[in-house]
Amino acid sequence: MTSYHLYIDDEFVESVSKRTFESINPFNREVVASVARGSVEDVNRAVAAARSAFDEGPWPRMPREERSALIKAISDKINERSKELVALEVADSGSTIRKAKEDVYLSARNMNYFSKLAALELTEPIEGLSKQGFSQNLILREPIGVVGAIIPWNFPLKMAVWKLGPALAAGNAVVLKPSELTPCTAMELAKIVHEIGFPKGVINIVPGFGEDAGEALVRSPMVDKISFTGSTAVGKKVMASATVNLKKVTLECGGKSANIVLEDADLDLAVDGTLYAIYYHQGQCCEAGTRLFLPDKLHDDFVGRLVEKTKRLNLGDPSSPATDLGPLISKRQQDRVLDYISKGKEQGATVAVGGSVPIDPALADGFFVEPTIFTAVDNKMTIAQEEIFGPVLSVIAFETEESAVAMANDTIYGLGAGVWSRDKDRALSIARRLRAGTVWINEWHLISEKAPFGGYKQSGIGREFGIDGLKEYTESKHLHIDELGSREKKPWYDTVVPR
Ligand code: NAD
Repeated sequence: MTSYHLYIDDEFVESVSKRTFESINPFNREVVASVARGSVEDVNRAVAAARSAFDEGPWPRMPREERSALIKAISDKINERSKELVALEVADSGSTIRKAKEDVYLSARNMNYFSKLAALELTEPIEGLSKQGFSQNLILREPIGVVGAIIPWNFPLKMAVWKLGPALAAGNAVVLKPSELTPCTAMELAKIVHEIGFPKGVINIVPGFGEDAGEALVRSPMVDKISFTGSTAVGKKVMASATVNLKKVTLECGGKSANIVLEDADLDLAVDGTLYAIYYHQGQCCEAGTRLFLPDKLHDDFVGRLVEKTKRLNLGDPSSPATDLGPLISKRQQDRVLDYISKGKEQGATVAVGGSVPIDPALADGFFVEPTIFTAVDNKMTIAQEEIFGPVLSVIAFETEESAVAMANDTIYGLGAGVWSRDKDRALSIARRLRAGTVWINEWHLISEKAPFGGYKQSGIGREFGIDGLKEYTESKHLHIDELGSREKKPWYDTVVPR
């Protein structure tokens, strides 16, 4: 059986406590790997290594081009090892092979993008303030220091890259804690980093649980920034704990994204787009289109088409290319989703399709839930307000565009949203009124490393990707360079020092 150690200060080491945990394949419950369980002490060791790499090591002071080349090497190695990483991601996370291939490809592409950002000169003059003979004013962008990165289980390798890429590109040292449910590909990334030969301590990867390893990272006074992706509930705890030394915090949290279909939409496109929006990775996506708003006129026909296509989706072994939907990540997640389905029924919504665990004995060991569509949903119901994180769609009928927008915005979340229409101006006008960090028109799930991604309201704080995403990992320093040159020309000194 594969076993993984912690990666601290460029060494693979056991946990101080010698404790390990098993990572389980959610399709067949087989053990994928035995993994060293990072403790508070281990996290503190990793933080100390990152601290000295940042304070004393070459990394933050290295020429940008050299940093860029090392980051690019990660991208190249992910590509070289893509087949193996895809297979591991499928086994460890229950991702279908079709999705995992995309994830690994995108991880390499994202890292390549960050390697290019690493080479950028970010210093900029402050227009309107600098004047020859008076002063020159510049903004320098400097690394923050030691970054603690905490990630969830739904896109294990991709999330690791989303954190490491910009943190490294900006010149920080990092301690990454993968999810306890899916640590394997992050530990392969550790091997890649080791092979490439990064300076010691710049990247540390410590698998472990939230309550000890995660908390320790957030509470450590030697960590300067926490970059967290996960649930809103844990995001709130992270933010509270980070006050210990007033760490910078970025949070990428949950969502309950609204999908609005207008009567003039291309229905073939909108039906498939809606299914893609909700069922991609079994609905375990932060920006999944979980609430579908349909005009009364379109409702029955559209739902009929969704139901018919949902029945044809193939649940199965995620390693088979024929599988459309795999298992959920864990028994706990399966129970949670089934619990939400019960609540939907109790509160008066109607199950149009799905609603239980599949009966196929070939799926009995996996944590499956049937793709499920609820109709007759009121936007106030629990299934329309809380993040289910499973293949469950809530259909909500609307009479007017205004009421659709009002209901779409009536949520604590604001991560994604979408509008389907052939009328571009109408779709744009709705898109502008939706309170969400990403709005797709006639599309879903397309997130680009070149565009900022993140949430309004309780979906998060800050943005990933693009230059905005890189700047989240920097401090800005105002540099004022005097050009007046003489005491005579500085009357403001007179407020304190008489001439
Ligand atoms: P989670 O919040 O339970 O855990 C996320 C990470 O936080 C894990 O590594 C976990 O070990 C750690 N953690 C748990 N308790 C902690 C604590 N007290 N202190 C520090 N760390 C702690 O989330 P999850 O179940 O792993 O992932 C699903 C959630 O992630 C969903 O809510 C989803 O919307 C969200 N998510 C958001 C985005 C985004 O970009 N906005 C992307 C993917 C997933």
